Amino acid sequence: LRGVIALDGPSGTGKSTVARRLAAQLSAGYLDTGAMFRAVTLAVLRAGVDPADAAAVARFVEDVDLRVSTDPLDQDTRLGDEDVNAEIRGNAVTLAVSAVSAVPRVRELLKLHQWRIIEEACSTRGGIVVEGRDIGTAIAPDSPLKVFLTASTDARALRRTNQDAAEGRVSSLDATRADVERRDGLDSSRAASPLQAAEDAVWLDTTDLDIAGVLERILDLVDE
Ligand code: C5P
Repeated sequence: LRGVIALDGPSGTGKSTVARRLAAQLSAGYLDTGAMFRAVTLAVLRAGVDPADAAAVARFVEDVDLRVSTDPLDQDTRLGDEDVNAEIRGNAVTLAVSAVSAVPRVRELLKLHQWRIIEEACSTRGGIVVEGRDIGTAIAPDSPLKVFLTASTDARALRRTNQDAAEGRVSSLDATRADVERRDGLDSSRAASPLQAAEDAVWLDTTDLDIAGVLERILDLVDE
């Protein structure tokens, strides 16, 4: 792979699993930008900063020591030396992450960070699969392949609940559905970099596809 594959879409579309496998198969790097926003949110919460106080969040984020790896087989998200990969998937972070992500300074800093990571992966591995909400529109608008994943709300809520169970978190389908809808609304309506498909993105509805099916479609697009 040369360059960036941008994989955008809301949660529960299979984005993370597909992005990781795609990167492994192409011997490319992998970047989960959602994990970066989640880790910053965890730092905000731990510091006792109110996620709804945009000015305080903007001041605080300057000092967050966020470190992420781009190995698709060993994804690592750290605050300083501490591995926070499990904790950033918990409820507290999920509830607060949209507010923190809407702060323009947070997006600006993470954008610079993401650009550095992308540049490094392109020079060491030849390319990188980057997943998020605004990769095709704001982070890598020149990337040759942009895919926008969608799925019905029910399918997405079910996948999230199954994933929670598989990773040992307790969640109910109704609560997860409500959270999926809540975050969609917040992520789509924010002023800075809303969740939006790039004009030249390929839309892929994953409602009736399994992971292998989604992967196959994207690999076909890579070959084109
Ligand atoms: O992908 P994931 O569900 O882990 O993302 C968590 C949250 O991070 C999203 O709900 C969104 O608020 C934010 N996010 C973002 N821009 C990205 C990736 C994630 O604002 N590129």
